[in-house]
Amino acid sequence: MQVGFIGLGHMGAGMAANLLRAAHEVTVFNRSADKRRPLLELGARAAATVADACTEETVITMLADDAALRQVALAEGGIVSTLRAGGTHVSMSTVSVALTRELTAAHEHARQRLIAAPVFGRPEMAAAGKLFIVAAGAAEALRKCQPLFEAMGQRTFPFGAEPAAASLVKLTGNFLIAATIETLGEALALVGKAGIDPAGFVELMTSTLFPAPAYRTYGTLIVERKFQPAGFAAPLGQKDVRLLLAAAEALHVSMPVASLVNDRLHRLIAQGGEKLDWSAISQLAAEDAGLRRTGGS
Ligand code: NAP
Repeated sequence: MQVGFIGLGHMGAGMAANLLRAAHEVTVFNRSADKRRPLLELGARAAATVADACTEETVITMLADDAALRQVALAEGGIVSTLRAGGTHVSMSTVSVALTRELTAAHEHARQRLIAAPVFGRPEMAAAGKLFIVAAGAAEALRKCQPLFEAMGQRTFPFGAEPAAASLVKLTGNFLIAATIETLGEALALVGKAGIDPAGFVELMTSTLFPAPAYRTYGTLIVERKFQPAGFAAPLGQKDVRLLLAAAEALHVSMPVASLVNDRLHRLIAQGGEKLDWSAISQLAAEDAGLRRTGGS
């Protein structure tokens, strides 16, 4: 397929590369133009503006947050004003339910379609084409996009015709990861302070009751205090928890654990942890336990 791709950050770079490897014709745009270079070497075409990346029927975005997506999609010269009628915008960033609704309406008004397709998986999974994709939007548009999803991910989970549902599912999944990081941080502070080998504890848990990728990945990162370079930086994690709380508030759903993790992330960022992986909130639990912060944080 011929497709535009906007946003070549930690995630987008690998995703666009996998589209090229699967023989799709990809036109790439990134705000910082130098990030296009590795993709051009793989055969991508360069777009100098957002509009240049919107000349085909389909354009994918993988941007940092609501502000970035709003700028790229809704500003003058953005996707909504330049994509052809009948075209599809595949929005893969993790953004608010409210913005996804607003974009759905704007695209509908311009006789275009929005697919929301946020992903689970860190940059190494993006690079390996192993993402899990949560996709919602018109069934026919989803079907058309399936070859693109297959190039970027190992499995696509459809969540109906309403794009905002995919955004809520993604934010809710990230809440579970954030809560996992917090509980791992507290548990490892406890065993660590008692002089018990934290690596052995993670090995026990992930080999028995918790053999899940989230426990394996974050248990290891916390034990090794490997918070830099950040696979998922603390400000992005805080953004997701904030957006989850906004969605919960709109539905009058009480989520006290989300509020706690939001607070942890704020504290980490305020104390200079902006460049650290979000799993560095574990060090705040260690600090509360009277353990000294060492390593990457
Ligand atoms: P990233 O490395 O920080 O990349 C962000 C991208 O957004 C860059 O291309 C950046 O351009 C662009 N951008 C930011 N502000 C912009 C603006 N105002 N106008 C235009 N472009 C702008 O982030 P990432 O880790 O790839 O994450 C991308 C999305 O995937 C986020 O929504 C994140 O929550 C989600 N996600 C991330 C992970 C993960 O583990 N990293 C996992 C799943 C989902 P520049 O290069 O010019 O800064």
